[in-house]
Amino acid sequence: MKNLLATRANPDVSSALAGLFPHDTSDQAISFAPGSPNQQLFPVAAMQAAFNTAIDQAGAGLFQYQTAQGNATLRQQLADRIHKWGQVTTTADNVVLTVGGQQGIDLVAKALLNPGDELAVETPAYIGALAAFDLYQPRYHAVPLTTDGIDLNALEDTLRRHPKIKLLYTVPDYHNPTGITMSTTKRQQLVALANQYDFVILEDTPYRDLGYEHAPLPAIKSFDTQGRVIFLSSFSKILMPGLRTGWLVADGDLLAAILKVRLASDLEANNVVHAAIAAYLTANDLDEHIQNLTQHYRRQRDAMVHALAAYFPEEVQYTRPAGGFFDWVTLPADLDAGELLTHTIQPQAHITYVPATNFYPNRDVHNALRLSYSGLAPQAIDAGMRRLGDELKAAIHATHPVV
Ligand code: PMP
Repeated sequence: MKNLLATRANPDVSSALAGLFPHDTSDQAISFAPGSPNQQLFPVAAMQAAFNTAIDQAGAGLFQYQTAQGNATLRQQLADRIHKWGQVTTTADNVVLTVGGQQGIDLVAKALLNPGDELAVETPAYIGALAAFDLYQPRYHAVPLTTDGIDLNALEDTLRRHPKIKLLYTVPDYHNPTGITMSTTKRQQLVALANQYDFVILEDTPYRDLGYEHAPLPAIKSFDTQGRVIFLSSFSKILMPGLRTGWLVADGDLLAAILKVRLASDLEANNVVHAAIAAYLTANDLDEHIQNLTQHYRRQRDAMVHALAAYFPEEVQYTRPAGGFFDWVTLPADLDAGELLTHTIQPQAHITYVPATNFYPNRDVHNALRLSYSGLAPQAIDAGMRRLGDELKAAIHATHPVV
């Protein structure tokens, strides 16, 4: 059957999302691999009540086909929210509800990318975005990150050499996989570059509410004067991923194109879930819920940062996330994080993480790894990091013997 498949779906070329989380059944297993939210923090009872409210209010009509753009109350609540926290002035008509942030990435790629079109991504990049973009067969340009976000000098250099770049994908807040946040100045400068070189920015920001040091910075979209920034976020990390609800904010031609591909993809959003989320937001204070989340996740982040300093060898470098779920660790250039994981760290220490390779469009970086602390209690983080630190010290001393 393979001869009948589209090139984009060739199963011989593995998806960036494939085989990420090796399963370890040992009692001692501690996994820093999945970036899942902590389900003990899910507001299940309040959401159950919200589903009941939504059904009581609308009855059978709730389950009927509705409009392609989806629940108007929820879209208004989201327009208000991005105004309050991101300083973006927009309307409910500019909000598109999506099946998680993931569908938002797919819709933007579908609306913009012909095969061979040029796409800039900051690297390392969110694996799911690469998996979505890969299907549209773009020509990638990798732009490195620095400690305060995308390297704008490297980006401008790339734009000068490749002026046909159409789209730039960025995760400006508590980036997956590095935890890095883009400075406000860079957000402004990035929009200026987009205006100058005529490209679209996809600002993907599911973690922006999960800051442990300060309130969210202004969204990149707040500096957009030409309708060339698409803001994308999600309820997955601040409520529950099982709701499969994300949203994007777009303007003008981009909005029209996204609505067109959206309609062809799935006709309309999941109105039942969206009505329930709208009822939840009416009956509950989402900001209060988020404050509770950040208190928990901050403790987990603190445990991770403490463990990195206490147990990791001095030859490795790591980021210091001010929010979100992730830390990025860079090993000496001759160590391969994937090989180490398979051959020693998982079998001997029962620790897992995600190696760097999948976070690069050309799969060409091997000496780094992503650690996630979102699903682990501080004690488990400490115990796991001690074991991982010992393994890394042994690996480094084996390749760099002290003479
Ligand atoms: N973007 C980023 C940066 C993510 O980390 C994730 C989930 N891990 C998503 C988008 C998609 O999440 P969802 O579809 O659950 O909203």
